[in-house]
Amino acid sequence: MIIKTKALVIREYIVGESDKYITLFTKELGKIQVIAPKGKKYDKGFASGTQLFVYGEFILTSYHTTYRLMNVEIINMFHDIRKDLNVLSYASYIAEFVQEVTHEGVGQEKLLMLTLVTLKSLMSQNSSLKLMRGIFELRALSILGFMPELEKCVECHEELEENENTVYFFGSEAGGILCNKCSMSYKERLKISYSTLYTMKYIIHTSFNCLYAFNVSPVVLQELEKVCRHYTAYYISKRFKSAEFIDQIEDL
Ligand SMILES: [Zn+2]
Repeated sequence: MIIKTKALVIREYIVGESDKYITLFTKELGKIQVIAPKGKKYDKGFASGTQLFVYGEFILTSYHTTYRLMNVEIINMFHDIRKDLNVLSYASYIAEFVQEVTHEGVGQEKLLMLTLVTLKSLMSQNSSLKLMRGIFELRALSILGFMPELEKCVECHEELEENENTVYFFGSEAGGILCNKCSMSYKERLKISYSTLYTMKYIIHTSFNCLYAFNVSPVVLQELEKVCRHYTAYYISKRFKSAEFIDQIEDL
């Protein structure tokens, strides 16, 4: 069967002397492993079309669960990602993240769109890479079914007052904001300001076009980073090598 699908290359690897393998995040089929046969005479476009971060229209043949690459028309190579080690490390984290949460046969069009928007934003560096990572994590987890409750206490459903001077508590395990009383029964509760809570609501609900078009104060960034990391680690238990690499280069 011949399949034509738009997809992003989220992993490329060569096993010994044999064929090249790529992992594609496709619009309709979710994550699939594809063989890019070495025997095929590569033209230049075919070889560059199988690189990490290439978004294109892929033509594949499928036999049972095996997919082989026939051709690819590149839509965006996201080439500038490689110009900066920091950008490359964050983009690698995004790729590793989607590899972990996507599955074969489960289309995740929204998550694919979010991933593409995020890669574009990482290249433009309009705001800090740390902020973009937090935005991606929170929005991705919301798309994946882990949207945190931010309007009322997730435990007792009490409406929380909206006041710039109020301190709020976020519980990853609880799955959202907790009132002062309910937060006492959670060992791990993260204090966040009104501005951070507001920013989180914005990240979850705004359109993709506006998602990376804002900046925040250093305090909000710090709180947001902490919440997003904690929330991600709670729902995705994998240790991301690329995230560890980011920590290493930022400690230098
Ligand atoms: Zn409560």
